[in-house]
Amino acid sequence: MPGDGFHPPIEEYLEAVHELEEEGTPVIQARLVERLDHSAPAVSEMVRRLRDAGYLETAGRTLTLTDTGRCLAESVVRKHRLAERLLTDVIGLPWANAHVEACRWEHVISDDVAGRLEVLLGHPTTCPHGNPIPGTGPDLRRLTPLSQARPGERVRLERVTEQIEIDGEALEYLSEHGWVPGAEAVVSSRAPDGTLTLTIEPAGRGMAVSPALAQQLHVASAVAAPTVAAPTVAAPTVAAPTVATA
Ligand SMILES: [Zn+2]
Repeated sequence: MPGDGFHPPIEEYLEAVHELEEEGTPVIQARLVERLDHSAPAVSEMVRRLRDAGYLETAGRTLTLTDTGRCLAESVVRKHRLAERLLTDVIGLPWANAHVEACRWEHVISDDVAGRLEVLLGHPTTCPHGNPIPGTGPDLRRLTPLSQARPGERVRLERVTEQIEIDGEALEYLSEHGWVPGAEAVVSSRAPDGTLTLTIEPAGRGMAVSPALAQQLHVASAVAAPTVAAPTVAAPTVAAPTVATA
């Protein structure tokens, strides 16, 4: 079956299945209806075609990628995430706009160009939103959803799921507050409904994060900056001058 041609609709569907799997969401047709914003009958028809073509398998209501389907899905996701890196790191496009733009690029980049892009970009392992680039090895980060964080915890944002990448308002909100991958924050409080208040470092700005958004932001725990504390501790050892005088 085709793996070398130009098939945007097929690729869009396989990419969506891959992303839902990656987010740990059981893949059923209703999720594809939401993710792709297509009608239920249209999704149903396309799923039937993808199954007939050997890209998808169904077990009850759950959809899974066949080996052929996974291979094509990973190739498209890889091109999408490399394109996002090129757009943000080289071309200077704002972080919040890279996803939409890369949705077009992913269908026209050849395997050869993807390989060269990877070298040009210095072998990145994630897209600018922290989602792993397929083919760059296992993701060894130990991440948990921000929704599980407790007051007093210090966390570093590592990954914004694809579900948020398609949500322009959420991306703007995160950007405005400087809560982007790599940024650290301290959880200052947690409301009964699960809304978190974060203090973003180093600016110290406050930011509220709804439970739904917190579920889609994956963080690593960040130790309270021992690297900064170390020199301060070392400072009293400015017994060095004393040594010098001796
Ligand atoms: Zn991305």
